[in-house]
Amino acid sequence: MHYLDYAATTPVPKAVADEMYRVLTEEYGNPSSQYELGRRAKELVDACRNTVAEALGCEPGELFFTSCGTESDNWAVSAACWKNRHVGRHIVTTAVEHSAVLEACRWMEQQGWQVTYLTPDANGGLTAEQVLAAVREDTALVSVMLVNNELGSVYPIREIAEGLQAAGSRALLHTDAVQGFLKVPFAARDLGADLISLSAHKIGGPKRVGALYLGGRIKNPRPLLAGGGQEGGLRSGTEATAQLAGFAKAVELRRAQLEESLAHMSEIKAYAVEGLTSIPGLRVIGGGAAPHILSVSLEGYPSQNIVNDLSAQGICVSAGSACHRGKPSHVVAALRLPKKVAAGVIRLSFGPETTKEDIDAAMRALRLHQTGRLPML
Ligand code: PLP
Repeated sequence: MHYLDYAATTPVPKAVADEMYRVLTEEYGNPSSQYELGRRAKELVDACRNTVAEALGCEPGELFFTSCGTESDNWAVSAACWKNRHVGRHIVTTAVEHSAVLEACRWMEQQGWQVTYLTPDANGGLTAEQVLAAVREDTALVSVMLVNNELGSVYPIREIAEGLQAAGSRALLHTDAVQGFLKVPFAARDLGADLISLSAHKIGGPKRVGALYLGGRIKNPRPLLAGGGQEGGLRSGTEATAQLAGFAKAVELRRAQLEESLAHMSEIKAYAVEGLTSIPGLRVIGGGAAPHILSVSLEGYPSQNIVNDLSAQGICVSAGSACHRGKPSHVVAALRLPKKVAAGVIRLSFGPETTKEDIDAAMRALRLHQTGRLPML
C-alpha cells in the first residue's frame, strides 16, 4: 500500500501504541482517585500537559485537553463569542476553514450573529490586510486557520494579531492549528492568537484527542462541559489517560526528529511537484507552503474517479475534504477555478514515513488513469 493521505490521519508509531497500552493496562487509575494509582494517573496527565504545552510554546495552565480538533474549534468559537458578547456580534473568518469552524460560525449566525467569510485568491492566498479590512468595531472574533488542510496554504496569523493590536481591536483571535502544529514551526507565546486548536492524530497520535490553548485574554472562559471539574473546571469528564499519553508520546517523537522530518517532507513534496507536473494537463492548485500538503488537478478527470482508481491500486489519496456528491469541496469551490480544473482536484499529503517510491507509484497510476481507462468529463 502507498499511503499519501497524512493530512486525513497518520499511522501511530509503535512507541506511541506501546505507551497507550501500558497506560491502559498498568496505569489505569482515575486521576481524581485519592490513592497511589490515581495519584500516578494525575501525574501522568500533568506530564502530558507539560509535554504538549512545551511543544506549543505556552504554559501548561493555558492548555486544555479536548476529545478532538473539532471539539477544540467548536469550543474556541463559542468561548470567544461568549467572552466578547459585549463587544458585538460579528465574526470574521474565511470560506476555507475546516467545517469544525464553519459550522460553529453558522450556528452563531442562527443565534443572530453576523459572519464575514473571506475568500482567498485563486492560489489559496489570504493577506493580513484582507482580514484586518473586514474587522469592524463590533467584531468579537477573528478565526483564521494556520495551515489550510486541502491546499497547504499558510496564513499570516502573527501579522493579523499585530494588526488587531495596532488597531486597538477588542476582537479575540482564534487559529485552527490542527494542520500546522509541528509542521510549520511556531510558538503560541509569539503567535499572538488568543485561542489555538490542536489535534493528536495528524502527528502520529491517536484519534479523538486534541487540545485548546486559551491565552491570557480569556479569563474565566465559559466551561464547555460542566461536571466533576477536570481540565481546570472547564471541560469535565474523566481524563482519557491513554489518549493523552499517546498524544504526548507522539509530540515527543515528532519533536525529537522535527528538523529531519520537516526537511524530509519538503523534499518529498518538491519531488512530487516535479514529477507530477510532468504529466500533461496536471497542475498544482494553491502554492501552499506547508511541507506536507499538495493539491493538484488533473483537468477534466473527476477527482472521485481518480481516488477510486488509485485506491484499486493500493494508493491512498483524497479528493480534498471529500468531493461531496460530485461537487468540489468548499475549499476548492472558494478558489473559483474553471469547472474542469475544480472537478479534478486531488490532495496528496505526506508524513515522515513517506518515500519517493510512494510518489512514483502515484505518478504511474495517474499517468495510467490519464491514458483513458476512465471516461473524461
Ligand atoms: N481542523 C483542521 C484544519 C483539520 O484538518 C481537521 C481534521 O481533518 C480538524 C480541524 C478536525 O480535527 P479532528 O479530526 O481531530 O476532529
